[in-house]
Amino acid sequence: MSIIEDLVIASRVCVEHGVIDAYGHVSVRSETNPQRYYMSRAIAPEMITESDIMEFDLDSVPVVPNGPPGYNERFIHGEIYKARPDVNSIVHNHSHSVIPFSCTTCQLKPIFHMAAFIGLGVPNWDIADAQKGTDLLVRNNVLGKSLAEKLGKHPAVLMRGHGSVVVGEKIQTAVGRTVYLDHNAKMQFQAMMMAGQDVMYMADDEVMANVAWQEYYRSWDLWKKKWQKKLAEEKSLNS
Ligand SMILES: [Zn+2]
Repeated sequence: MSIIEDLVIASRVCVEHGVIDAYGHVSVRSETNPQRYYMSRAIAPEMITESDIMEFDLDSVPVVPNGPPGYNERFIHGEIYKARPDVNSIVHNHSHSVIPFSCTTCQLKPIFHMAAFIGLGVPNWDIADAQKGTDLLVRNNVLGKSLAEKLGKHPAVLMRGHGSVVVGEKIQTAVGRTVYLDHNAKMQFQAMMMAGQDVMYMADDEVMANVAWQEYYRSWDLWKKKWQKKLAEEKSLNS
């Protein structure tokens, strides 16, 4: 099924770009049943193949019982799919360059045209506002719902001291935004080291002109072709 192949490729792309390591996950909403989504069983994303993909309902309960464990933080995905009918793919990641913006007053802003979507707003969710004394992980639907509420209608949300969640109408949009959010965070940090507060960010009208068409088609096309070849090689080595 192509949606499952895309999900495997999306995971590998996020690993390749250093925005997901042994942790983090990508999901995609079912094309036939919007009340369901697909995500891997709980393994490192770099190891995911099509046979690892499971189907969940929007309470993040596996559709097939007694299967392998799902990710502890799958509730992020179910609650966002409930709240956002326009969202069909979600990436949760612990990108190191983004985290400093989640635990300081320094606001992430669009410095680079490929990350113009940041100008639509990236709120910062503090898990302690929902529950004190957690390990910062979104381990249930109550915390997932709180995070989804903070995300609101935005394209991404930061998670204090933890990472971020990025959403898209298409899988390539969620993955493209995730990769370029990381690049933007690095560039913003560099620019602020050079010039402090004296940095020019994209203006609101520039942001709107860019997000009107930016869906990362060319990036996704490149990434997909590359990973289809690599995954076929991997499969033949293992057979
Ligand atoms: Zn996490």
